[in-house]
Amino acid sequence: MNTPARSLPAHAPQTVFADADGELLVGGQPLSRLAARVGQTPFYAYDRDAIARRVAELRAALPPAIELHYAMKANPMPALVGHLAHLVDGIDVASAGELQVALDAGADPRHVSFAGPGKRDAELRQAVAAGILVNVESFRELAPLAEASATLGMPARVAVRVNPDFELKSSGMKMGGGPKPFGVDAEQVPELLAAIGRAGLAFEGFHLFAGSQNLKAEAIVEAQRKSFDLALRLAEHAPAPVRTLNLGGGFGIPYFPGEPALDLAPIGAGLADIAAAAAHALPEARIVLELGRYLVGEAGIYVCRITDIKISRGHTYLVTDGGLHHHLSASGNFGQVIRKNYPVAIGNRMGTPPAAEPVSVVGPLCTPLDVIADRMLLPAAQIGDLVAIFQSGAYGASASPQAFLGHPQVVEILA
Ligand SMILES: *Cc1c(COP(=O)(O)O)cnc(C)c1O
Repeated sequence: MNTPARSLPAHAPQTVFADADGELLVGGQPLSRLAARVGQTPFYAYDRDAIARRVAELRAALPPAIELHYAMKANPMPALVGHLAHLVDGIDVASAGELQVALDAGADPRHVSFAGPGKRDAELRQAVAAGILVNVESFRELAPLAEASATLGMPARVAVRVNPDFELKSSGMKMGGGPKPFGVDAEQVPELLAAIGRAGLAFEGFHLFAGSQNLKAEAIVEAQRKSFDLALRLAEHAPAPVRTLNLGGGFGIPYFPGEPALDLAPIGAGLADIAAAAAHALPEARIVLELGRYLVGEAGIYVCRITDIKISRGHTYLVTDGGLHHHLSASGNFGQVIRKNYPVAIGNRMGTPPAAEPVSVVGPLCTPLDVIADRMLLPAAQIGDLVAIFQSGAYGASASPQAFLGHPQVVEILA
């Protein structure tokens, strides 16, 4: 291979994990020792200090009035949810299963909310009994909520999830605007609010979530501004004062070469304007952001071990015991249009300069989709070395088809 180096896929910078004596440090420990402590590869490791630092950075950049929720679908590992429950102001769940984890983790039900299309009647009843806030996203949800309120003797706490009449520009995954299965179209919300009033449910506010994985601060600022304006208009139809205004999140993290980190300064300034306007127009409202990926994505790595090194027609493959069955998103098969490499390192050869020839890191699955790193420059590696994939704290283990091909399950730890 004589491809010029500059045309090769490069690594996006990773800024969370330091290294010492050639070893990546995770939770302050050299990776080889951590792997021995875990007792197997592959595993995910989430660095609790990195998560705490991320929350602190956000709080420093945003106005104090803004509350932070963790959207636990990004990473529902119980120990991690327990760690975050003490750092943020609330938890957002997307199923009754996640609700159990959040409550076990010690989350205060007053600050837990539940969003998602197709909530089952039993889940709605569990939510009412738990005393959490349900983000209503369909007229159909009102009857089971009213039924649960009556039989349990406690009115369901509800907010309306609005499908806005605008889109979040530059978002990796759009979840609002146009026809969507999420939320209720803004133009139908006045009718839904009237129905909530008639059903005697405890209306508390609005929830707007426009999209995910956005790295453009201006787009986020604009979406938050428009969300706030829309909520103000809809509040005129509400059966009770707005006490919660959840403006969503969608803060992205850099995965690929050339992607910048999100600039928080304009977002903080935009939210300060919104908080000032809200203090006037919606004086009882707490303003909430719900973030998943941004809180945990960069704090996690996926670690697998090289089990074989094969050279096929001049190209080197590092074959590992980990792959898309544990980490679908790093393989490029979870919402990517064009496959790009996550940042990758040989975790026990940090500081060793890359070899001249590019290599590919693949997994043990018998499918060409099982690629972790495609033609990257890495230090010369040996069987037994540890491959670390960065930016792996969100949409990893729980978002991967672990049963595919019957390999061992991945282990997750909080380091
Ligand atoms: C997925 C989701 C989130 C989390 O999105 P991230 O991009 O991980 O921050 C938040 N809220 C809702 C309603 C979601 O569906």
